[in-house]
Amino acid sequence: MCGIIAYTGKQQAAPILTAGLKQLEYRGYDSAGITVSSRKRLRTWKSAGKLTALQNQLPDSINSNCGIGHTRWATHGAPTDQNAHPHLDQNQTISLVHNGIIENIDTLRKSALEAGATLVSETDTEVLVQLLAIAIKKHSLTLLQALRQLLKQGVIGTYGIAAISFDQPDTIVLARSGSPVIIGVGDGEMLAASDLSALSRHTREVVHLDDGELAELTPAGFEVTTMEAHRTDKTPMMVDGNPDQYDKGGHTHYLYREIFDQPKTLARTLSGRLDTRFNTTKLGGLNLQPSDLLKLKRVKILGCGSALYAGLAGANMIENLSRIPADAEAAAEFRYRNPIIEPETLYIALSQSGETFDTLAAIREIQRKGGFVLGIVNSVGSTIAREVNGGIYMHAGPEVSVASTKAYTSMLGVLALLAILLGRTRDISPQRGAQLLQELDSVPGKISAVLTEEPQIKAIAETYSHAHSAFFVGRTTAYPVALEGAQKLKEISYIHAEAYPASELKHGPLALVTAETPCIIVLPESDLLAKSVGSLEEIKARGAPVIAITDSDNKRISQLADHVIRTPPADPLVQGLIMGVALQLFAYHSAVTLGRDVDQPRNLAKSVTVE
Ligand code: GLU
Repeated sequence: MCGIIAYTGKQQAAPILTAGLKQLEYRGYDSAGITVSSRKRLRTWKSAGKLTALQNQLPDSINSNCGIGHTRWATHGAPTDQNAHPHLDQNQTISLVHNGIIENIDTLRKSALEAGATLVSETDTEVLVQLLAIAIKKHSLTLLQALRQLLKQGVIGTYGIAAISFDQPDTIVLARSGSPVIIGVGDGEMLAASDLSALSRHTREVVHLDDGELAELTPAGFEVTTMEAHRTDKTPMMVDGNPDQYDKGGHTHYLYREIFDQPKTLARTLSGRLDTRFNTTKLGGLNLQPSDLLKLKRVKILGCGSALYAGLAGANMIENLSRIPADAEAAAEFRYRNPIIEPETLYIALSQSGETFDTLAAIREIQRKGGFVLGIVNSVGSTIAREVNGGIYMHAGPEVSVASTKAYTSMLGVLALLAILLGRTRDISPQRGAQLLQELDSVPGKISAVLTEEPQIKAIAETYSHAHSAFFVGRTTAYPVALEGAQKLKEISYIHAEAYPASELKHGPLALVTAETPCIIVLPESDLLAKSVGSLEEIKARGAPVIAITDSDNKRISQLADHVIRTPPADPLVQGLIMGVALQLFAYHSAVTLGRDVDQPRNLAKSVTVE
């Protein structure tokens, strides 16, 4: 689940490994370590805590051109020095780093102990390395042969693995099942990492390993093989390698930069996709003809976390504009309830990283049953992007902060594009299509306008940062906005936050609404506004402080609410995209006021590649 980096080539490996780990830091981790091979010896340093603890241990110069590094997110055993990766066998002949979870670890541990291994950590990973060393010694295998044999015969679980051995000092061996491993192709040097961010300073040429593949890297090149030892020919792809995308751009937090980048990133998502000639949208990689779109009877959107909330908003957009029944569901729930897969349903999978395990598993379940899945993904070349039947990239650029902002907004942007396209095959006239395109095109500018409200939003966030609990309320299309607003606040400020449809308040949650619980109500101008203002009255009657986000000039809102954050008037299709940004700023400033680790909130990881 966490970070892997590996290097072999002409340069000194240690600084490249530590710089790579630095790039991976944003994913969240609890310990870090590196091993380098030098003159038939493996040298390892590892430490619990932040990367600086590891860096403080490292000698000034380490002479080695090959090594592996890891940032760990503990699953088996506490975050201690001993449990940190890399792990070595007892004779220090092999070093291995691993992302993921080995499920049959009890059986494997028993075999390792029976074969005479002494285990020094509580991790599943160490068992693998001990078994590898035993197999190499017993059957005179190379590291690659031993790893293939072990994985094929005995290992159940998810893994991204990088390993080196003392007697093949410039060779790195990799394997993947369910946890990303990407090879970076250099000139006389090769790298590998679990995430593009760690490769971006070295190369733009990358090869993604697929599940069930292994690879061997030397400075001269790479070879990818299957579990059956068949060679797979992989052509490197070029990625957008601008390393500046991984900087904070002079700000204190990545999250801040990403919130403020949204006018640009959303413009990129929309760029080239608004077809003003035919008043519709153009989406290149759909792999669906207009006749296929016309046959659709249902749309089902799947995602996890913020992607699920974007999906709920997207389902509203699609159903409203195309009149095709649409809904969204948590990917893992869907997958495990033995869903009925229908031929005329368009399944849409949303994932920023394109590696979200639960979403990927749902996609595979749909495809196994013959369904068509369209992926909406940010990370180019990621597993979901490669496995879906058709796809739309978000083009939001790398999102570093754990809490999603710009990718969430771009997801909504793509869903709006799709809603217009589906709408134009059915219900929507060219005139209305033209209007919607204009509305969508104006969103980046309207987001910029919301960003200028930062001082007011910051002051409100500071006023309520002492709250133990907050409620977010919205009706129909505003409900997903409320859900994502609550999600942002709880993720980064750790304030307990719940979202409810406005109509549901009186069916339970109102019991908790008091003068101590700030209520954030999302009030888009619509024919349901009067009803939502009624909910605002209900909340106010219980004495709760109210923060209203609205594009309406309804007088009653300013009379009742303690604070009103005004957003530019917009079509119902795009109101959520604009109002959501105000809620991101609210969460951000609440978290900063409380001194939270904004970019790496506790217990959370950027891309969740385990179940
Ligand atoms: N399961 C391994 C451990 O607990 C790897 C965890 C990770 O993905 O960082 O050490």
